[in-house]
Amino acid sequence: MLILGIDTSCDDTGVAVVENGSNVLSNVIASQYQAHNRFGGIVPVIAAREHTAKINYIIESALIEAGVSFSGLDAVAVSHHQGLMLSLVVGVSAAKSISLASNIPLIGIHHLEGHIYSNLMGRTDELHFPFLCLTVAGGHTLLLKVIAHGTYELLGHTRDDAAGEVLDKVARHLGLGYPGGAVIEKLAQKGDPHAYDFPRPLMNSSDGEFSFSGLKTAVIAAIDRNPDLNQADLCASFQQAIIDLLVSKTMRAAHMHKLTRIALAGGVALNQPLRATLKNASNEQGYAIFAPPKGLCMDNGAMIAGAAYHLYQERGPDSLNIETRANAPLGTTEIRYRPASKYE
Ligand code: ZN
Repeated sequence: MLILGIDTSCDDTGVAVVENGSNVLSNVIASQYQAHNRFGGIVPVIAAREHTAKINYIIESALIEAGVSFSGLDAVAVSHHQGLMLSLVVGVSAAKSISLASNIPLIGIHHLEGHIYSNLMGRTDELHFPFLCLTVAGGHTLLLKVIAHGTYELLGHTRDDAAGEVLDKVARHLGLGYPGGAVIEKLAQKGDPHAYDFPRPLMNSSDGEFSFSGLKTAVIAAIDRNPDLNQADLCASFQQAIIDLLVSKTMRAAHMHKLTRIALAGGVALNQPLRATLKNASNEQGYAIFAPPKGLCMDNGAMIAGAAYHLYQERGPDSLNIETRANAPLGTTEIRYRPASKYE
């Protein structure tokens, strides 16, 4: 089954062709980095304008790269839930047009389902249900129990900023540009992770809740107190605090909910020290650890097509009346998206 997957939920235009939910024939992503960088964060109206300008070209590129025409597609899938409203509308309008013109099923996917299902793509070993999924990105930090296809239980969420969001904000405060995760990881390689003792809010709480705003405030205060501080040490200590929070809460949730398989997802899953620390902690407990291929961590169309392959079997096609929603529950699980906080 060949599915065209489209994701325009935030600031990247992603279109891909995926065969049987796993074999990625093309995965084209147009970054809007240049358009947003000078603002230090994502500007929704600019994101929508960029998606509109590029979407047709990116769809055509994905089809050419996969060696497929519209008539060869079996379905079209799109992120219609969760993200920037103006951005979502661009992808959903394109997907509806393709569905109508090519007479193929339309499959609406929650953007977070794409991240979760990126773990099931391109692998030979099976990630069986149930599993624990830590999704860490610019708009989210949450722990989900993935019970079956399309069935989820929220075990914990951030009460304030997402981990990717505080990485962006601290990088911006240091004048390092955007997105912040990659530049902080690079600087941190030369720094001492124990140079600064930053707070780790809620690290010892027994629930799955996260909080990062206190850490962000402490790091920004340290920068403001000493403009000549060692940036590498600061980045290493800040990154270590985030990793400690993510890994300790994940391990506790796995233990409490008796989940022996742990999956990592989202843009922050690219962080190599996070991957290594989570892997070591999981190995110590005898848990199996999974992470998507690096090309599927950031927002992309392939993960949407991958999720659609499995969820289409469960839920069937959607009608051409599907709505776009900035906030939408995942199954019956209420999840809050915080795109506006990128401008704080
Ligand atoms: Zn995302």
